[in-house]
Amino acid sequence: MDYEKRLQEIRARIAAACSRVGRNLEDVTIVAVTKYIDTEQTEQVIRAGLTDIGENRLQVALPKMEGMGAELQASVRWHYIGSLQTKKVKDVLPRFYMIHSLDRLSLAEEIHKRAAAFGRSIPCLVQVNISGEESKSGLAPAELPAFLQQVRELDGVEVRGFMTMAPAGADPEEARPVFRGLRELRDQLLAQGLVPAQARELSMGMSGDYEIAVEEGATLVRLGSILVNG
Ligand SMILES: *Cc1c(COP(=O)(O)O)cnc(C)c1O
Repeated sequence: MDYEKRLQEIRARIAAACSRVGRNLEDVTIVAVTKYIDTEQTEQVIRAGLTDIGENRLQVALPKMEGMGAELQASVRWHYIGSLQTKKVKDVLPRFYMIHSLDRLSLAEEIHKRAAAFGRSIPCLVQVNISGEESKSGLAPAELPAFLQQVRELDGVEVRGFMTMAPAGADPEEARPVFRGLRELRDQLLAQGLVPAQARELSMGMSGDYEIAVEEGATLVRLGSILVNG
């Protein structure tokens, strides 16, 4: 698999999406989702120039991290993008830079508690269920003000922004209102002072709809199949 070529094509598409709406390319980071591929292929992805790697399950990520050697592992930022069980937090924190799936207070409390041992606060994105689909995890928009007020008390948790999953539809345009909704929600919460000024990240867009997500303000696109599958 020629990851460099894939990456070049994707970057060109992201650049085009940015220029359609007057955004800077530097404001969009590709999180390469490597859950489908093995350790050796993940190493190739990193060597192709990806700096941010996403995994959604600890059981899959850990053996890869251990298998690839400390130097390569430490050369990238690891993003935890899947739903996170409270009991796994203590194993996630030492290895991952950012958690994209903060979706309940008990999880925030555990992150806060465990963060103390590492002497750092943990960058987190609050997962929001914009579409309202029952199958989707994430907080409802109406729950956010109270949730964010409680999380503010937990100095081990650093809210950096928001994440959402769009409905998996045949037409990527169907995702646009969901992405736009997350951006508008972020702007509203910032304006109301309910999140700190650095809480600007929007993790949204996957292989089928990332160009639309970029047009709507994504700062982190989570790309799996389009980048790594044959
Ligand atoms: C697998 C996964 C992705 C990547 O999906 P693709 O459609 O393969 O790009 C993004 N986000 C999350 C949370 C995932 O689990």
